[in-house]
Amino acid sequence: MKAIDCPCGHRLEGADDEELFRKAREHVDRDHPEMERTDEQLRDRVAADAYELDSA
Ligand SMILES: [Zn+2]
Repeated sequence: MKAIDCPCGHRLEGADDEELFRKAREHVDRDHPEMERTDEQLRDRVAADAYELDSA
């Protein structure tokens, strides 16, 4: 599992970068529409900031 932290404190988790991107897309659209992030920007965030979660 991988995860990425939204600046609002919400942690998004997914099996891979693609799932993280989908979660981030949904989260931003629902909670932060004012950010007006493009898909490309979100993919860049995931690629830069996602980290591995220990599978416990
Ligand atoms: Zn957020």
